Amino acid sequence: MLFKFAAGTRAIAFLALLLLCGAVAFSAVSCVDDSGTSEADSQIPEISQYEESRETVYAEFEAPAFTVLPLRPEQEDRSPTVDVGLSYGNRALKKLELSAEGGAMLVCGGSVYKNLAVVWENGVMYVDGQPCVKACVRSEAPIALSSTGWSYEGEILLTCGRYGITVVNRVDIEAYVKGVISAEIGADGSYESRKAFSVICRTLVYVAKDHGEDFDLCNRNCCQSYRGTYHRDETNDKAVDETKGMVLTYNGAPCLVAYSSSHGYNSCSSFAAWVGADIPYLRVVRYENEPLDYGGQWEVTYTYEQLSKRLKNYTVTGQVKSVSIAETDPYGSSYVYRINITDTAGNVREIKYGGNIMDVLGIRCANFTIENVSGGIIIHGIGNGHGVGYSQRGGHQLGVEGYSFEDILYFYFPGTAIAPCYDF
Ligand SMILES: [Zn+2]
Repeated sequence: MLFKFAAGTRAIAFLALLLLCGAVAFSAVSCVDDSGTSEADSQIPEISQYEESRETVYAEFEAPAFTVLPLRPEQEDRSPTVDVGLSYGNRALKKLELSAEGGAMLVCGGSVYKNLAVVWENGVMYVDGQPCVKACVRSEAPIALSSTGWSYEGEILLTCGRYGITVVNRVDIEAYVKGVISAEIGADGSYESRKAFSVICRTLVYVAKDHGEDFDLCNRNCCQSYRGTYHRDETNDKAVDETKGMVLTYNGAPCLVAYSSSHGYNSCSSFAAWVGADIPYLRVVRYENEPLDYGGQWEVTYTYEQLSKRLKNYTVTGQVKSVSIAETDPYGSSYVYRINITDTAGNVREIKYGGNIMDVLGIRCANFTIENVSGGIIIHGIGNGHGVGYSQRGGHQLGVEGYSFEDILYFYFPGTAIAPCYDF
């Protein structure tokens, strides 16, 4: 669960969507106290070795425009809700039973049902045998779905979809963040890193992806993993409560707070990872105490026969003679930015950007070196994930070393500010 946005294509698609989004309508700008303590300040230089060599480029960059989700502050004393797609598209369900402790009720077309068995047949959804186009299920307790056994706070909305029953959870944003943090990192990590991560998970709610009209976010890696109350952890819940309503912003707009499991002592610039996207707060930062557990140190061995099979579309002859690193991150990280694939006739095919390189070589991170051995290559890598933005293992260690969640966030996302995303 620690591994996020592993596939380069997913990250690229994500970014492309972001860059295509509309105008910003985000109004919250007042910052939470970020002054820090003098004790913390004295430690900051150790973790503030930002790569400054391309400062001019960053300064010229305009923050990408994001769509801010139309959250629903239905009552003044409540936080907004978010609609999370649970089953939809060709994964929509044909049959579903819902239950909750103390009972739940389903409302459809003015009728109220206590029998919560829903089926979809030939394009029609039936509740207790009666046709129904849209339904809402409510309960005081979390509502369990028979499809997974997982339970969800808030309401469950059911729609008759093209392929089956579309299931959406309309949930308070804070309850959503509690579900995400437990699904993404479980009960692991220093306390301050959990607080930092809860701000990140909440921020990603505001950086919308287009999932159509049915819901705001999905429950998969495309957005963030979310399993309702499943494996909810009290410490995570407390971390979310203590950062209630906080998001990370840049120039007053919510940030693309990318994260991955570990970065291999330095993070990759967004430029080198994702088709040249220069995002000013996604810079190269270095942190030598980052733990490389959870798969953060790895090796992949390929014979030339295996490489020829894997990379045949990148050659003319169909036979790979060599794979070499042509260039690392122009912003100064050790991540690979460009590789050359040479075939047996000497044709060279160039692959650019870390995300693409990970996909092409089938590796978990673009922070690697290549060792040529008899009959093939060994790829030695450190880091797990795309390496851009926040490192979950690095954040954990910074918390262990006594840094606050604000320090951790400002270290990984330089130039950003923590701000409230809604009034509460
Ligand atoms: Zn999604």
